[in-house]
Amino acid sequence: MKKNTIGRVLACQVCGSGGLTPILSLGHQPIVQEYLKEEGLHEPEVTYPLNAVLCRKCGLLQLDYIPDPKVVFPPHYPYRTGLTNMLIRNFRELADILERDYPWKKGDLIVDVGSNDGTLLSGFKDKGMKVLGVEPTGAAKVANKNGIKTIQDFFNNKVVNYIKKKYGLAKVITAANVFAHINDAPALAKNISNLLDKNGVFISESQYLMDIVEKLEFDTIYHEHLRFYSLKPIKGLLEDAGMSMIDAERISAAGGSIRVYAKKGKWPVSSRAKDLMRKEEEAGLTDEKTLLDFAAKAYEAKNDLLALLLKLKKGGARIAALTSPARSNPLLNFTKINDTILDYAGEKKGSPKIGLYTPGTHIRVVDESRIFEDQPDYVLVLSWHIGQELIKKVREAGYKGKFILPLPVPRIVNLK
Ligand SMILES: [Zn+2]
Repeated sequence: MKKNTIGRVLACQVCGSGGLTPILSLGHQPIVQEYLKEEGLHEPEVTYPLNAVLCRKCGLLQLDYIPDPKVVFPPHYPYRTGLTNMLIRNFRELADILERDYPWKKGDLIVDVGSNDGTLLSGFKDKGMKVLGVEPTGAAKVANKNGIKTIQDFFNNKVVNYIKKKYGLAKVITAANVFAHINDAPALAKNISNLLDKNGVFISESQYLMDIVEKLEFDTIYHEHLRFYSLKPIKGLLEDAGMSMIDAERISAAGGSIRVYAKKGKWPVSSRAKDLMRKEEEAGLTDEKTLLDFAAKAYEAKNDLLALLLKLKKGGARIAALTSPARSNPLLNFTKINDTILDYAGEKKGSPKIGLYTPGTHIRVVDESRIFEDQPDYVLVLSWHIGQELIKKVREAGYKGKFILPLPVPRIVNLK
């Protein structure tokens, strides 16, 4: 099996098979979290190829280029889980489910891979588990400050051996929105298996290819997400590492995700997971034709969105962006929507992005209060996956203009 952990991907990231089929090309793009300071606007910017390709053998949709993880998840990585209400709710729910279905003893160990600021673990700490996070970015410091013990490092063989020696095996391992992010997938799965107690459970949450295709969420394709999972390749990946997928469910997190439960050894799979796999099969989710159709719709939406904004701009409209999530940057770069079209992007108070500029498109990020002072004619809702919730909130807070939803079909909404 060919190893490809950094750089161009010449063999499938999960099964190692060659012959990857090109599906969608989003051009060369900067790293989504590399927001620029003012002086950065006068320097060159590094970009990386951003293309999704399909493995014909295992059906994994994946990027064809893996940047160095130190570049994608640097110590100054700004994302904080605890600022996203949807994720706080999601992780509370997960803690309740696990307490009910996979009961643990007080003091049993839970390890969260890519634990960010410790938001997921805090719910388990409250329920009496011994918690440990592993997180390479500076979010680890925030977690430690909040009393969530966190090792600031990448989750690798060395860290796993250290944890086993110092804390023992884990009764629960979680990997929420990181199972598709870590570059060597087979090694990742083996490290998890190696750390998991024989009666333990491993839970991963990843964006689900079914949601990406159904809702045309091609803006979630960027360098942090190296793989776009359906159940078939996940099942194979777990089995190769000595685990079994025992259950799976669709959840609403991150615009639609798949939560997968696994145990060590050979176990039967639940009927609801079987159901989901059957639905994937019926939808032709990993067929070349389905995915090329998805790509064609993405290209069309890109052109329509740019045309809509240019038309409004030509009519003299003032347009700002509502929020500046990571996932908006591939969309803005792909559609060539930059600071000549959007006056600024308004972010929630306290966001570390305020005062910086969006990578590649150089739109200034400001405190969202500016939107209420300025009253631009339109705001482009970049977190469109939680669009209804945001629109309601911003309308209630006093914004009087119109909203533009960029995807799946670019359109103006004028809610009262
Ligand atoms: Zn494959």
